[in-house]
Amino acid sequence: MERPVFDMMWNDQEKAQLREWDRTVYWHAFTQMAEYDPFIIERAEGCRLWDIDGREYIDGVASLWCNVHGHRHPILDAAVREQLGKVTHVTSLGCSNPTSILLAKRLVDLAPAGLRHVFFSDSGATAVEVAIKLAFQYWRQCSDPRPDKTLYAALGDAYHGDTIGAISVGGVDRFNAVFQPLLFEVRRLPCPDTYRAPPGLADEALTDYYLSQAEQLFRREGHRIAALIGEPLMQCAAGMVAHPPGYLRGIRELTRKHEILLIADEVAVGFGRTGTMFACQQEEVSPDFLCLGKGITGGYLPVAATLTTDTVYEAFLGEYASLRTFFHGHTYGGNPLGCAVALANLEVFQKEKTLEKLPSKISHLQRRLQKIAERPHVGSVRQRGLIAGVELVRDRATKEPFPWTERRGWKVCQIARECGVFLRPLGDVVVIFPPLAVSLEELDRICDAVETGIRRVTEEPV
Ligand SMILES: *Cc1c(COP(=O)(O)O)cnc(C)c1O
Repeated sequence: MERPVFDMMWNDQEKAQLREWDRTVYWHAFTQMAEYDPFIIERAEGCRLWDIDGREYIDGVASLWCNVHGHRHPILDAAVREQLGKVTHVTSLGCSNPTSILLAKRLVDLAPAGLRHVFFSDSGATAVEVAIKLAFQYWRQCSDPRPDKTLYAALGDAYHGDTIGAISVGGVDRFNAVFQPLLFEVRRLPCPDTYRAPPGLADEALTDYYLSQAEQLFRREGHRIAALIGEPLMQCAAGMVAHPPGYLRGIRELTRKHEILLIADEVAVGFGRTGTMFACQQEEVSPDFLCLGKGITGGYLPVAATLTTDTVYEAFLGEYASLRTFFHGHTYGGNPLGCAVALANLEVFQKEKTLEKLPSKISHLQRRLQKIAERPHVGSVRQRGLIAGVELVRDRATKEPFPWTERRGWKVCQIARECGVFLRPLGDVVVIFPPLAVSLEELDRICDAVETGIRRVTEEPV
């Protein structure tokens, strides 16, 4: 790719000023500000980023899991410009516009069968909140009301966003412990983990084991559980934990049998990430709710969506006085500017045959990961499509982790950055999550940087 003409926009003094304000005024997400070292991106194109000093990096995290076709894609850029010439904001409260309508229809056409209605919001967390609230209200006003269904089930180490409802169903103690008194009751199923499974279980027995845990819970308390929420195939923020094959389909069958709504959170795994448009499609599963975010606009603008079925939708229909309305909305939900770029994002999937081009990238990454998996402190490598997690451990035989305060994963990513690759770890799991538009050569450079980092951080004396 041509390097864009880089006119130095900031002199040294201005850069120092930006860094100071970045450390003291701009409070960054999930960042210990006392230790924050400014990393300031000035521009981007394709899978490349440039910082304010003009240094180039490959975007190995797809701008935190939301970029799809690369940065500054001409079709996406043009879609924003075109919508700017029409209208940028129309409320979704009793009002509409053509762009948002067309996106809703497009999503329904692409989604697993039966998901025929779209509620828009503006982030993954709100897409999850919407599903949680819809499920709750559904059981109160469906034709055979079940007001005793007030509990949720969720998976161990789950991550569904950072609002209070989303962290209630979330299971990452390190993030949530301080907020515990604020959270509602959730029944936790063990994280269906193929690496840290209970000892003595053969791989082939894992699916049945984890499903039997779910069945036990549902038999005991299913009559009180409104919905189960989970990420299909892979729990991303949990540390790229891969589920055993068949787990998703089994959970779908069990939730049906026990009359529990299934919320599939595809905020991270949706839009081609795992090789198919949606992860649920790999196990031919249709959930009752599908939560979408991140990749929906290809990393451009905050749009999210919660899709649901006729059954749920119809329980909300009635006269105004029946109070069946879903009294919930986000000012920017269904925002036309965001919807325009989301439509263009889906159009590029077709135009550039994005899904058809994935298998060769996925198998290339797999080959590279096989080499990385042999390194002495790599405990496990987990891949689903163009998502990979490389878990570092002190002892491969016992799976004993490194002390978390040593921040080995973070150090690997620091070295990768020196090699020109931007990565962000999850604890001691080094994450590879490039835009789907990544080239084989860029994948090689990402994997080279990961290997160099792992070697230096785990094999060389400190
Ligand atoms: C990122 C993420 C969310 C939250 O999305 P935001 O847009 O950051 O609120 C929810 N669920 C999953 C699975 C995610 O990865």
